[in-house]
Amino acid sequence: MAKICPNCKTKNPNKSEFCQSCGQDLGSVTVKRGFNPLIPIIIIIIVALPLFFIWTFFISPSMNDNYLDENGINGTAEILDAEQTQTYVNNNPEIKFTLLVSIPGREPYKANYTTVVPYINLAQVQPGAKYYVLVDPKNPQNLKFA
Ligand SMILES: [Zn+2]
Repeated sequence: MAKICPNCKTKNPNKSEFCQSCGQDLGSVTVKRGFNPLIPIIIIIIVALPLFFIWTFFISPSMNDNYLDENGINGTAEILDAEQTQTYVNNNPEIKFTLLVSIPGREPYKANYTTVVPYINLAQVQPGAKYYVLVDPKNPQNLKFA
């Protein structure tokens, strides 16, 4: 922070009444605060980061769920492999499935599907089990358990 002389642009200490360089009266000059360019960046990060997480983990998945409910093709999927990830939601483990998906008009194909499985249902989601699925007509890898 400094008083900038309106006459010669010299930076003077805040308490100066006259310019140290040219003697200009600085009585009416207000102290100019230094602008920190980091501040808007920090604000953007503080605001954007939670929004990003809310979008990624809540809004986007629920939009995709609704989309599959309305547009998904009915099919079946056999669980080939089930692997627990490190993620828990409300104490329920997230499971990464490898599925063999069958939908009308297409050869059975492999797809990965990660979802949270309530503990009570864990015993049922073992390799060999078959489930009904809804499959995105535009992207066969995008699916969910029906
Ligand atoms: Zn001056």
